[in-house]
Amino acid sequence: MRCVIYRRVSTDMQREEGFSLQAQKLRLEAYAQSQGWTIIEDYSDEGFSAKNIERPALQSMISDMKQKKFDIILVYRLDRFVRSVLDLHELLILMEQYDVKFKSATEVFDTTSATGRMFITIIATLAQWERETIAERVFESMLKRSEQGKRNGAPPPYGYDIINGNLIPNIDEAKWVRYIFHRYPINGSQNIAKQLNKKGVKTKKNEVWSDFSIRYILRNPIYAGFVRWNHRTITGGKSKYTGNEVITKVDQDNFEPLVDQETFAEAQKIMKERSNIAFRSDNHYPFSGVAKCANCGKPFTGAFKKRRKGGVYRFYKCAGRFKFGICDIQTIAEEAIEKALLDSLVIDNNDSSIPEVELFQEEYIDEEEIHKRTQQLQIKKERAEELYIEGNISKQRYQKIIEVVKDEELELTEIIQRKEEEVSQEEIETFLLNLLDEWSQLDYASQKHAIRSIFESFTIELVEPTKHGATPTLPVVKIIDYQFKV
Ligand SMILES: [Zn+2]
Repeated sequence: MRCVIYRRVSTDMQREEGFSLQAQKLRLEAYAQSQGWTIIEDYSDEGFSAKNIERPALQSMISDMKQKKFDIILVYRLDRFVRSVLDLHELLILMEQYDVKFKSATEVFDTTSATGRMFITIIATLAQWERETIAERVFESMLKRSEQGKRNGAPPPYGYDIINGNLIPNIDEAKWVRYIFHRYPINGSQNIAKQLNKKGVKTKKNEVWSDFSIRYILRNPIYAGFVRWNHRTITGGKSKYTGNEVITKVDQDNFEPLVDQETFAEAQKIMKERSNIAFRSDNHYPFSGVAKCANCGKPFTGAFKKRRKGGVYRFYKCAGRFKFGICDIQTIAEEAIEKALLDSLVIDNNDSSIPEVELFQEEYIDEEEIHKRTQQLQIKKERAEELYIEGNISKQRYQKIIEVVKDEELELTEIIQRKEEEVSQEEIETFLLNLLDEWSQLDYASQKHAIRSIFESFTIELVEPTKHGATPTLPVVKIIDYQFKV
C-alpha cells in the first residue's frame, strides 16, 4: 500500500509536550514498516493549530489524494490531524470518495478494517452532535450578550450610527424614527412609507421605504432603549423560534432612546390590533358567523380554495365539524347559500315561508309618541313643583312624584337609544326588496355589513348534497330559521 504520513506540531506543543516532528516521524515510519506499507510522502505542518484546516501541508496532501497518489494516510494521533470532528468528518467523506484509508498510529481510529465503516458512522454522529453543540454555544453566547443588553453584532439600526462601538443617534435619521412612531396611530405603515418616499427619505441601505420596513422600525425595541432577542432552539442544524423572548435594557451608559416607552408600547398595541383586523379574513365572507348549521347549531365560517382552472372557490365550513368534530355536514359553496337566501327573500305574500319581520312588535313607539311622552313628563314635573311650593302636597309626596317622573324619563331615554341603534323597519323592508338587485353589485365587506345589520343568524339545512363527478353540482340548501337583529 502506498502510504503517506501527516505530521503537525504547534510551537506551543513542541515546547510543552516535547512532541517534536522528528519524534512523530520515527514513530510513524516504524508503524508503517510493521504493516508492510511504503511511505511515499511525508506532509508536515509546523507551528499551525489543528483548528486551522488551511494548513499548507494538509492542503497539498488533500490535493494529492484527489490525484489518487496514495492509498492510506497515517497520523501519529488524531488531534495532530484535525481538531474538530466536523473537519474529520469532512475529510473522511473525501477519503471515502477517493478510496483512501486512514489510520492513527497510537489510537483505535482506523478505516483499514471492518470496524472502519462503523468508525465513520460514529464520526458522522459525533460531527452532527458537534455541529449542534457549536450552534448551541453560539446561541448561548448570543443569549448571554442579549441578557447583558448587548446587541448581537448587528449593523446599527436606522436612526443610529455606531461610533467607537456605541450606538449614537444619527440626527437626520432619528427625526424620521420619531416621525414614524408619532404618525403611526393616525396613519398606516403603508401611508407612512409613501410619505417618507415622497419626502425623498431613504432607508439605511439607501432604499425606498415599504410598509414592511416601517413596521420593522416600529417593532424594534431599541428605539425605547431595549434589546430583544428571540429564543431559538436548534435541532438538526435548523433553528426554530421557541416564542420566548429576552428583553433587556440596552447596556450602554450614554444610550439615547428615540421614543419613550409609552409611545413604543402604544405602537405595539396598534400594530397588533391592525394585524388582527387584517387577518380576520371572515370580513370577506358575508355569511360567516351568521349562518348556522341545522345539524349541530354551530356557525359556518367562510374559506376559499384556488380552483385548478383559475379563480377561487368560496365555501363555508361548519365549526361543529372542523373545530369540534361533532358534525359531519359537507362544506357548502357560498353560491348555494346566496341562492337560498336570495330566493327566500323574494317577497311573495302567498308564501308562508317568507320570514315575517317581527322585530318591532314588542313595543312600537314612533318619534311623535316619544315627543308627546317627553312633554307629558315635563308637565307632570312642573305641576308637582307648583303643588309643593303652594303647600298642597307634602315634601315626601313631591319627592315620590319626581322619582316616578325620573323613572319614566329613563325608560324613554332607553327607548330612544334603542331606536337609534336598531335599523328601522323601513330600512329592512327596503333592504329586503332591493337585496336581490343590489347583492351582486356589493363587495364582500358590504354584503357582510348588510347581512349583519339585518340578521342575528339564520340556519342552513342541507337538502341535497353536492353531486361529485365530471360536473359537480351545487348543493341545495334551505334556510329554515331567521333570527333578526332586534
Ligand atoms: Zn354542523
